[in-house]
Amino acid sequence: MSDVIEIEHLNKEFKTDAGAVRILRDVSLTVARGEFVAVVGPSGSGKSTLINMLTGIDRPTSGRVMVAGTNLNRMNENQMARWRGRNIGVIFQFFQLLPTLTILENVMLPMDFCNTYPVGERKNRALHLLDQVGLADQAHKLPSAVSGGQQQRAAIARALANDPPLIVGDEPTGNLDSKTAEQVFDMFGEMSRRGKTLMLVTHDRELAKRMPRVVRVQDGCIVNA
Ligand code: ADP
Ligand code: MG
Repeated sequence: MSDVIEIEHLNKEFKTDAGAVRILRDVSLTVARGEFVAVVGPSGSGKSTLINMLTGIDRPTSGRVMVAGTNLNRMNENQMARWRGRNIGVIFQFFQLLPTLTILENVMLPMDFCNTYPVGERKNRALHLLDQVGLADQAHKLPSAVSGGQQQRAAIARALANDPPLIVGDEPTGNLDSKTAEQVFDMFGEMSRRGKTLMLVTHDRELAKRMPRVVRVQDGCIVNA
């Protein structure tokens, strides 16, 4: 089985007025294709920082990050954005849908940006993805016109737009009530059954327990993996 994520001796420091603060300390981690991984740990332990290294949203101070066979250290910002769009579906706690685009347009955006599907197929593909997350009837609304749970389902459809091998979420159910969180979690389970690799930061112990692998971050180290 090939590894989708390979992190070796990753260190991340942030420069602050008080000097450099080391946030990730010699982190090594591999995640195989098809794994469904929870990332847990106290607030401030470095979970988001770790996720941002994987998505290339931020860069390591030292160490190697390989995702889907690509060494992220070597890419410039432009290459990174396009590469990310094709290879990682990123889901955020606060959805990050573009407010002036309809839900349908938000889901089409990654396909437009990365040119992954023919122009004439994009709309139908987006509608199909919205149907899969139960939002077909909301497609032409603006994000502000639907509920938080619906916005997160739209963000999931958007994350799937380019059919990336890896789905990464930073507290994707953190802003949802427990019933909605449960529905969204079920969608992640469904993606996992369909062969996606998923890595989700969660505060929710009950949800983490249901994920086959739990990675615990503490003081910038992985304490079990
Ligand atoms: P978690 O997601 O586990 O709550 P984070 O990865 O967001 O933790 O943050 C880990 C630590 O790194 C925190 O102490 C936070 O204040 C610090 N940190 C995060 N981003 C920055 C930054 N850009 N500059 C300085 N410190 C940061
Ligand atoms: Mg965080």
